[in-house]
Amino acid sequence: MKHYVSAEVKCPFYTHEDACELHCMGFSDSVRVHVCFGSKKRKEEHKDKYCHDIKRYAECPLYKSAAEGE
Ligand code: SF4
Repeated sequence: MKHYVSAEVKCPFYTHEDACELHCMGFSDSVRVHVCFGSKKRKEEHKDKYCHDIKRYAECPLYKSAAEGE
């Protein structure tokens, strides 16, 4: 699967993505989280709701997990 980085994502825990997955920082420096949305449409809906919005990315459950750390 081809990975790429979206310039539209504002969340600091974003690393990259592919067609149906987001790859983010996890709850420690050595952990990465791969989230499979099952479709590009569902992934884009999540990005629009959280990742793209500087006022909302902190509400994302994955962001909270990464921010809380171990
Ligand atoms: S908002 Fe959530 S899913 Fe999006 S990049 Fe940040 S941690 Fe990942």
